[in-house]
Amino acid sequence: MSLAADSSRSLRLTALTKEFSTFTAVKALDLEIPAGKFFALLGPSGCGKTTTLRMVAGLDVPTSGTIHLGDDEITYEKPYRRPVNTVFQNYALFPHLDIHENVAFGLRRRKAKDVDEQVRAMLELVELEGQARKKPPMLSGGQQQRVALARALINRPEVLLLDEPLGALDLKLRRGMQIEIKRIQTEVGLTFVHVTHDQEEAMTMADTIAVMNGGEIEQMGSPAELYENPRTTFVANFLGQSNLIAGTVSNAGSDVVKVDMQGTQVSIAADRAHVQSGPGWVGIRPEKVLIAPEGEPIDAPGNHMQGGVVTDVSFVGVSTQYLVRMPWGQELMSFEQNTGARGIIARGTKVDVSWRPEFSFLLPASQDVNAGAVEES
Ligand code: ATP
Repeated sequence: MSLAADSSRSLRLTALTKEFSTFTAVKALDLEIPAGKFFALLGPSGCGKTTTLRMVAGLDVPTSGTIHLGDDEITYEKPYRRPVNTVFQNYALFPHLDIHENVAFGLRRRKAKDVDEQVRAMLELVELEGQARKKPPMLSGGQQQRVALARALINRPEVLLLDEPLGALDLKLRRGMQIEIKRIQTEVGLTFVHVTHDQEEAMTMADTIAVMNGGEIEQMGSPAELYENPRTTFVANFLGQSNLIAGTVSNAGSDVVKVDMQGTQVSIAADRAHVQSGPGWVGIRPEKVLIAPEGEPIDAPGNHMQGGVVTDVSFVGVSTQYLVRMPWGQELMSFEQNTGARGIIARGTKVDVSWRPEFSFLLPASQDVNAGAVEES
């Protein structure tokens, strides 16, 4: 079922600001969300993502700035007059009405035509055709969330806002629902704006993620872009895990930036170097860090370092996660897939460490090395 968005009607936030009495929750946010895309606002608790969503829904009035849908300004429009619907974490279904009537509610109130037919199509979309005559308390959490989704979508909003919609579900169900909601979004083709503090959830579902920190957007891009080429330590730590190693730029060329990293010269591709001079953090993801017992070959040209010692080995099934203490005292993480190609390296083994230069990135030293690392779940 396509409810496809008019591609010219992007959602635009311009210098959007929300001040509470003593606190600025959202600071001059500029954001354009293309029509028909799945967009995630990702950030830790208190970063301002719910406040942003509430302003789009019309539940909070901005202190300044504007909100447009296509050419229409909706900054001060009443919530019910906006072509926007919200799905919250608590499903807020009517317990005394059956599923069919819950979904039909908005249409009946507006005296719409073909209500039963539309409800049936919508229940089919969320794969609940067989549950139509049950009451909400008889359904599982995931099913209730799908009813909430159907109830919002049947109003044919241009933009669907999802505020931590899976927060109440257990982990396994969450994973299933992430894929399910993504499928529904692709099928209906509407703009979805999803607020979450769960980086894996954002990466699984969204076409584009905006990482928020302290009321501002720290970086925006596709999940792969943000993961492979973060611009700040906050993003590098908040999305997945990173090794961040202190270094100093020795030469900034147009293609490659050279960094003195604890006595080793490492090269960083210029488009991944977010510092051109002075100190910085050389970043490398743990799964890109290869290790081998001292003297054995490693399949990664460049950046070859000796003198590591394995200090911790965690076998987690699909991979083995090593901690390797380097000569300068820092422990690096190295995650290796358990392909069976080689045995597990024991704690205490001396190892060489290497990574392909094209995988590393260079971040400003101005931000704390641990920014974004403490993630609640
Ligand atoms: P969470 O995931 O915990 O909901 P969030 O990123 O969605 O976090 P917001 O709910 O947008 O964060 O809140 C941003 C900041 O604004 C927080 O520090 C919060 O305490 C503050 N805040 C939110 N609502 C109000 C209010 N009505 N009065 C004062 N401060 C508020």
